[in-house]
Amino acid sequence: MKKHNFNSGPSVLPQEVLQQASQAILDFNGIGLSILEIGHRSSWFVEVIEEAKSLVKELMNIGQEYEVLFLQGGATTQFMQVPMNLLDTNDTGSYCDDGVWGNKAAKEALLFGKVHIAASSRDKNYTCINKSFDVPSSSKYLHITTNNTVEGTQWHKFPNVSMPLIGDMSSDIFSREIAFDKFDLIYAGAQKNMGAAGVNLVVVKKDILGYVTRKIPTILDYRNHIEANSLLNTPPVFAIYVALLTLRWIKKEGGLKEMGKRSLQKANLLYSTIDSLPIFNCPIAKEDRSNMNAVFFIEDENLQNNFLELCKENGMIGVKGYRTVGGIRVSMYNALELSSVEAFCDLAKEFANKN
Ligand SMILES: *Cc1c(COP(=O)(O)O)cnc(C)c1O
Repeated sequence: MKKHNFNSGPSVLPQEVLQQASQAILDFNGIGLSILEIGHRSSWFVEVIEEAKSLVKELMNIGQEYEVLFLQGGATTQFMQVPMNLLDTNDTGSYCDDGVWGNKAAKEALLFGKVHIAASSRDKNYTCINKSFDVPSSSKYLHITTNNTVEGTQWHKFPNVSMPLIGDMSSDIFSREIAFDKFDLIYAGAQKNMGAAGVNLVVVKKDILGYVTRKIPTILDYRNHIEANSLLNTPPVFAIYVALLTLRWIKKEGGLKEMGKRSLQKANLLYSTIDSLPIFNCPIAKEDRSNMNAVFFIEDENLQNNFLELCKENGMIGVKGYRTVGGIRVSMYNALELSSVEAFCDLAKEFANKN
């Protein structure tokens, strides 16, 4: 049976990326060695990382003032690495608290400096993005989560602020055309829209670094990675290669414009179907709904379990909501085909008719 992969992460990747990646495990570019066997300072791998960096810049349409890094530790490591590099003990970092990930990021910042919650939708159960925020002008930066993977909300228009803007883009990176140059630091774990788990993309404007007085461990100081071209120590070679293959695929398919078009098409179909079926309830504010992760519910718990069971029987993977949220979550990352969303919607309609 064809599987429809709605996993929230790690998640669906383009079939041709998987084929190319598996070929590279056996024989990388016909050199007679596996990608797993080559040195990270070999010209073979330096070419990989340089191409990946330049594709990131090209797709984001950003200039020389930005550095592209491939780091480890997942997005969670960035929760602490950002404030460690940008906040002195008496400095304040501002955070938008619109979901569990942004909330965790703010908590980590407390280990390094002061935290100001600029806005929160917690009292609305995170069913929207609170856009009426206040940021003290002395704040060193404003941190937002561009797509709230767990709750199913997404920023569709970015705020204008007078301080560095930092974006956790883990779950919507490269899914649409945006003004990336509004941001001073962007980070994203690769396993949602960019490739395999194990690598983190960090894009940072050089000139925001170097102002804190604390001592930063070598491996956690962005400046050391910049100087070493992401080869400070052994990087996650294979994960970076898979990211390169995905970046090539995105470009070949028509870039971020095309990714945005496709994801809007998928999301529109999904939400209009759910909204048309009274058995389903999507509590997320319409203007903030995520085009990547749709979160909705069936009120009757038994019925909901039946539906989740039915999804499983029909090869639909990963539609159970996040453990603290419950309900149903349909993730529609770049590599998910429209036909999978169509299949889900058909099943949802059939289920609604019967119940
Ligand atoms: C998944 C996710 C994270 C955590 O990523 P890890 O790589 O598991 O640390 C952080 N932020 C967002 C928005 C996410 O979707």
